[in-house]
Amino acid sequence: MADEKSYKYVIVGGGVAGGYAAREFTNQGLKPGELAIISKEPVPPFERPELSKVYIDSGANPTLAKHYVCAGTGGERQYPKWYKDKGIDLILSTEIVKADLASKTLVSDDGQIFKYQTLLIATGSTFVRLSEFGIQEADIKNIFYLREIEDSDELALAMEIYKKGGKTVVIGGGYLGLELSAALRANNHEVTMIFPEPWIMHQLFTAEMASFYEGYYANKGIKIIKGTLATGFNTNSNGEVTEVKLDDGRILEAGMVVVGVGGRPVTSLFKGQVVEEKGGIKTDALFKTSVPNVYALGDVATFPMKIYGEMRRVEHADHARKSAVHAVKAIKAVEEGRTVPDYDYLPYFYSRFFDLSWEFYGDNVGETILFGDNDPKNSKPKFGTYWVKDGRVVGVFLEGGTSEENKAIANVARAQPSVESLDVLSKEGLSFATNL
Ligand code: FAD
Repeated sequence: MADEKSYKYVIVGGGVAGGYAAREFTNQGLKPGELAIISKEPVPPFERPELSKVYIDSGANPTLAKHYVCAGTGGERQYPKWYKDKGIDLILSTEIVKADLASKTLVSDDGQIFKYQTLLIATGSTFVRLSEFGIQEADIKNIFYLREIEDSDELALAMEIYKKGGKTVVIGGGYLGLELSAALRANNHEVTMIFPEPWIMHQLFTAEMASFYEGYYANKGIKIIKGTLATGFNTNSNGEVTEVKLDDGRILEAGMVVVGVGGRPVTSLFKGQVVEEKGGIKTDALFKTSVPNVYALGDVATFPMKIYGEMRRVEHADHARKSAVHAVKAIKAVEEGRTVPDYDYLPYFYSRFFDLSWEFYGDNVGETILFGDNDPKNSKPKFGTYWVKDGRVVGVFLEGGTSEENKAIANVARAQPSVESLDVLSKEGLSFATNL
């Protein structure tokens, strides 16, 4: 007979949200044996953003243990012993392949059965493959994606093997493409980035902001080819990629290819059992799904974004952490007959590459005004952008800010102060935020 275990709470997914949910359970009072985290990955929950930053950089002597949650927020780092000491079952290298929400039963790839009273879905996202755009890549070696620890280890090894003047093509101009291009360059690869949009980080950056980063990357020796799609690959007799074909007829030499073309929430286990919206699992402002005692957190949740009055899904670490904490507080409050306020999230994104570091808070809608010095030759650049909608500042971006300045821009995005004109913002620049 199959092995069967029963828990009060089960978290499926041992990523950022899973790790922070576990911590909040212990803060709220957890008895040994009440909680299990079941994760496909062979390692405890860690701060996933580090995979494309410090952890990938062989020069930085990376160890994953430095990045276990809660390294990103300054709390006690959750080593395997932490889970053991708290009586939490950390069940790793175990994929849930079937979920029956009606009978509150999960089945793993090795045939184990898990029963729960309350389920927390924290299955995160997966990467979008080039094959989904009709590009043949299935049997080709040396094409790398990055989401989980195993992807990262494979990529790091390949980076080492192809190091000597290796020509690497990075497909994708989002934050992953930028961070990985920087890591590859720092490890002496000759890097070419290609993407179809007219400028990098097209979803967030304005053309003016992008021109700084593109100039900075060019100064670092990274070649950027914009407005171009990869259409296929040429390979050698070992099945290794040797060239990338572009839609404008150009062919780029490549010892390896790294792809970062977007992510998609992992919801397939629950299809037809929970209500979905905007590609994710629909929740209320306490992360309750349409099924009683089932919650969804992090990347998979489409939740009411109170500040903007609409349903949104957010694929960022800060929300993964905060949604996890909020959901657990809500679960405990229900048990104790209390209520908690609705989740009131202010969008926050960040990235780091080379010596650069930026933060963004709020919404990137409306008119924009750039402030500060965005000369890519500047070794310590500090500049930003305000987004203004209906006479109010709704979003702020800052490159090179101190922690005080970043706090100030977050306050602006939250308070949404009114402004007389864009000229005022342009003149006052960062001091508009710091003097608020
Ligand atoms: P995840 O952290 O992805 O965790 C999901 C977990 O669920 C994984 O362990 C997965 O294996 C497991 N799982 C999935 N299905 C199953 C199953 N059936 N059975 C068992 N386990 C399962 N965000 C930022 O804000 N800033 C950044 O700079 C940034 N950089 C990033 C860099 C990289 C390389 C990546 C991949 C992401 C980055 N992100 C960044 C996004 C951020 O990491 C995610 O938003 C965050 O990890 C989401 O947390 P999560 O817990 O919802 O999902």
